[in-house]
Amino acid sequence: MDAKRAVTRRGFVGGVTTALGVLTLKPDGSLWAQAAQDPAPRQQRTENDYDAMAKLGNNENPYGPSEAVMKAMTNAWKYSNRYGYPDGGIVDAIAKHHGVKPENVMLGAGSGEILQVVGQAFLRGEKKVVGSDQSYNAVYSAATNIKADVVKVPLLPDYNQDVAGLIRATRQNHREVGFLYLCTPNNPTGNILTKDQIKQILDGIPEDVPVLIDEAYHHYVEDPAYATSVPYVLEGRRVIVARTFSKINGLAGMRLGYAVAPRDVLQEMRPFSTGSISAIVKWGGVAALQDAASMEKIKREAIQLREKTIAELKSLGFASIPSQTNFFMVHLKKPVVPVIDEFRKKQVIVGRPFPPMNEHLRVSVGTPDEMSRFMVAFKEIVAAPKTAVKTGS
Ligand code: PLP
Repeated sequence: MDAKRAVTRRGFVGGVTTALGVLTLKPDGSLWAQAAQDPAPRQQRTENDYDAMAKLGNNENPYGPSEAVMKAMTNAWKYSNRYGYPDGGIVDAIAKHHGVKPENVMLGAGSGEILQVVGQAFLRGEKKVVGSDQSYNAVYSAATNIKADVVKVPLLPDYNQDVAGLIRATRQNHREVGFLYLCTPNNPTGNILTKDQIKQILDGIPEDVPVLIDEAYHHYVEDPAYATSVPYVLEGRRVIVARTFSKINGLAGMRLGYAVAPRDVLQEMRPFSTGSISAIVKWGGVAALQDAASMEKIKREAIQLREKTIAELKSLGFASIPSQTNFFMVHLKKPVVPVIDEFRKKQVIVGRPFPPMNEHLRVSVGTPDEMSRFMVAFKEIVAAPKTAVKTGS
């Protein structure tokens, strides 16, 4: 026991992350889009190689879990040989946090599991998912994996989601729509649907259509026009809000997310959930919910560094899409694919391509050191055309 307690923060996170990474990845990588985004196969990568890279490709919190969360997780090692262990009351803690009942909460091994379960529950019988293009692609690939159709509504020219288009597509396909997917803030663009736009969408579509609202980046938003959609759950609307501990709480490798939804909606989903969540992260999740100060600190640092980097890029002549998240997209004015490769050669992992946004690069906000490495590489690869990569155009 003492040896387990004495484990270092770095060793603890690395070891558990590695173990869970292997256990939770689907063989085809289709569910876990973050894994799919990563061009280097995990098996071929040594720990040192990975640690040396600036990791700006997966919208993670570069600092990892807070001290309070680490303490709670370290203490929970004592349950690693048990099934019926105390879990810190994670479901109750989430319910209390949102002012809902425990019956309105379903845990997932990351919110990725929630997104997949929604697909399995609501796309059976040749149903379709409606959503924006671009948006978080894991939802669409999970649908495709179970042979469901995807109705994609292109983003507007300013990269915002097309509210009228989403309503129209849902109404036109009403009887075949399994659910409508709304990601806000949206990944990969980083912009939001406002509270009013969400209302407009919910008022504009048939009430029986389930709406999955993915709030993975909720905690980073500053725009007062944004609000969580949890109140719609309390109204009894067929809304499923998905949240994750992977982003601001720094627990991506530990796998914990959840859905908040009406009881009957969750009842349709529960048969498809695995319930495979470790004792350790349940305790971490409880501590994370209580650690508002750490979340605020991570948020402030991410926003300050995001805006600093966007300003530097602007001074070099490269515009970015305004973001409400811990990532942003910069317009390269040239094809993104070879640029991503060049960054990798310089040990900087950036976001994957997001067609049809073929000249935009998604950059996650890392540590100040990682962002400096990004800017140095950017100047060499993108901003200095004479020495830059040949794009073939
Ligand atoms: N939703 C969005 C919009 C995301 O960007 C991600 C991960 O990048 C997820 C859901 C899934 O995250 P996780 O399964 O780690 O909770």
